[in-house]
Amino acid sequence: MTPDTLLRLANLTVPRKPGRGPRIYPDPLANPESAAQALGLSRVDSTELDAQRELHAVTLALVDGLLGGRPLARPAARLTRLAEPSAATVRLDVADGQSLRTRLEWKDATPTAALARQVAMELGGIDPRRLKRCALPGCELVFYDTTRSGTRRWHAESPCGARARQRRYRAAAS
Ligand SMILES: [Zn+2]
Repeated sequence: MTPDTLLRLANLTVPRKPGRGPRIYPDPLANPESAAQALGLSRVDSTELDAQRELHAVTLALVDGLLGGRPLARPAARLTRLAEPSAATVRLDVADGQSLRTRLEWKDATPTAALARQVAMELGGIDPRRLKRCALPGCELVFYDTTRSGTRRWHAESPCGARARQRRYRAAAS
């Protein structure tokens, strides 16, 4: 699986293309309209913005912690708290007459809690070694390496992979 919600939040204020400054300006979480667009929600209530900023900061702390080998306990506890208003009920479904399947049915009290529990579940389900920051200097985008070899280095071939090769070529030629 790809941790889509995690990556969306981790890259929320990072420019899609390197060299455009360290952060997207204005901050997408500054108002409800841009927050809804950035988070992929149909609408955002202005009372949710503070919680969404907190969720964004906590997600960054967890990603930076994972990538930098720093302690995770505090941001993990903060994320747990943000996800608390979401609760699941277990359902036992009968399929094909004789096979049983369990499924969690979520009730999300707020959109932020829904995002928080998605991020929490994604973080618990991924292989942390495959969570990476783009290797091109100046590109801060985080990605999840789903290649079989696990050796992907750039968030995307265009522009970062191509630029890195160009740099190597120039360095070798000079
Ligand atoms: Zn990149």
